[in-house]
Amino acid sequence: MENLFTSTELTHPDFPIFGVERVLTESFRQRASDIHIIPLGGYTVTLRVDGVFRNLANLSREHGQSLLARMKVLGRMKTFVSTMPQEGRISLETGESTIEARISTFPTVCGEKGVIRIFEGSGTASSLEELSLSERTMAWMHSMALENQGVVAICGPSGSGKTTTLYALLSHIHGLRSQFCSIATLEDPVERITGKFAQTQVSGDLTFHKGLMGLLRQDPEIIMIGEIRDPDTASVAFEAGLTGHLILTTLHCDDPHGAILRLRGLEVTQGALVNALKGVLCMRLLRKLCTCSIAGRASEMEGFVEIWKARNWPFPVSHRVKGAGCEICGGTGYFGRVPVSAALESIDPDGIQGGVLNESISFGQETRDLLESGIIDFREVIRIFPTVNRGGRENPL
Ligand SMILES: [Zn+2]
Repeated sequence: MENLFTSTELTHPDFPIFGVERVLTESFRQRASDIHIIPLGGYTVTLRVDGVFRNLANLSREHGQSLLARMKVLGRMKTFVSTMPQEGRISLETGESTIEARISTFPTVCGEKGVIRIFEGSGTASSLEELSLSERTMAWMHSMALENQGVVAICGPSGSGKTTTLYALLSHIHGLRSQFCSIATLEDPVERITGKFAQTQVSGDLTFHKGLMGLLRQDPEIIMIGEIRDPDTASVAFEAGLTGHLILTTLHCDDPHGAILRLRGLEVTQGALVNALKGVLCMRLLRKLCTCSIAGRASEMEGFVEIWKARNWPFPVSHRVKGAGCEICGGTGYFGRVPVSAALESIDPDGIQGGVLNESISFGQETRDLLESGIIDFREVIRIFPTVNRGGRENPL
């Protein structure tokens, strides 16, 4: 790639100021979700775009350090501390938009490392319609939005679109009900200030558990809990779900069965699961083929038949593969991402007891449809689902 900075710029006394701006705006332009500033002798700046890393710039140790120092100033962090992890928040006005980001620094043996998470535009949350969800998943969202009480969980590994989806569902519910309905959130961190409901950042002594206990005295109807991570929070959340509140939350797990195991691990009783859990949806984001993709040959499909059979996934009748790359996709062959989901049909006691829970939406169905439509390719499905549980999962009880 071409250099991000000219040699004149690198010797300019204001380099740290415009350097940070250049790195942030260029990362934003390339649709990066994260920027990694890594000390390895010199400094390497890499971007995570559509979930995959690419190089942005290689800098000398001195230039890398000065960029990081400037970012720490913007993030209101202690600039003189480089031997302890720190966290801050950056808000940068560019011509057309405001870039909101969270910065964290971490000491390494080669110097301080910085990672910047860029949040999607502040102000407006995406609507459900903008998320490219399948029809089945949209129907699931609409039915959950009509629930008056209980717990609804959206699951997946980090970076799988859980929070964005949760915001969209919350906005949808907000739109359905009167604007005076009582919606509150507890988040760590608040990724997007929506201006639609009361949002609270969990930090220090204000834990998810304490925050939730406090919120329940505030006459809430709907509460979004960023993530349920401990048994105390899980217990209060399910209790609230049984007493007239709708709780929306995320869980860190791979699939719907994993969500039940996770909740059991958080000491949620079978009774609470059956009575309060209204729905579990797990998500993944797959890279979409760029417009430079080409039709795949039938012979290429043969290599995948056995893998799909072993997964018990429906096999597509046709497919496309990534092309040579073009300017739009920066030579990668992929552009943007599309979500796929899996959801439990029902939370019935026999299913939980027997460890067999039917799925009303499955990753297999969803990926088959996208493969046949030429939106994704086999290679991406394998990258995102390297292994798949083939049943025989241990009884969650
Ligand atoms: Zn392309």
